[in-house]
Amino acid sequence: MKIIAVKTHVREEFLDITRDVRSAVRNSGIENGIALVFVPHTTAGVTINENADPDVKEDILMALKKIVPDSLPWRHAEGNSPAHVKAGLVGSSIHIIVEGGDLQLGTWQGIYFCEFDGPRDRNVFVKVFGQ
Ligand code: ZN
Repeated sequence: MKIIAVKTHVREEFLDITRDVRSAVRNSGIENGIALVFVPHTTAGVTINENADPDVKEDILMALKKIVPDSLPWRHAEGNSPAHVKAGLVGSSIHIIVEGGDLQLGTWQGIYFCEFDGPRDRNVFVKVFGQ
């Protein structure tokens, strides 16, 4: 398993980790299989989305803010319940097909680490299965 260290800089942001995941896959030596990308945190997640227009990730964050308002009567004493809910919505893992030693992403797809309770030092686990 490869661990990618991620440093986030603000409370909420999407960081493009496609290059790091691609390099973890190449270093695994596995040519054909599946890459599992897993985020071991409860207030951050991982997703695949458009990497061409940077406004898309800002729009996703805006929509998540609207779906999960800070103003709800949250009970969790730590005060970061919106971050827990958003992390649950985007999910904590993705799978990507690996062929010829490379990620089979679509032309406009990138892999994003989704921070909802930053800034923090975070980790992303990458495990490649195959041969
Ligand atoms: Zn919490």
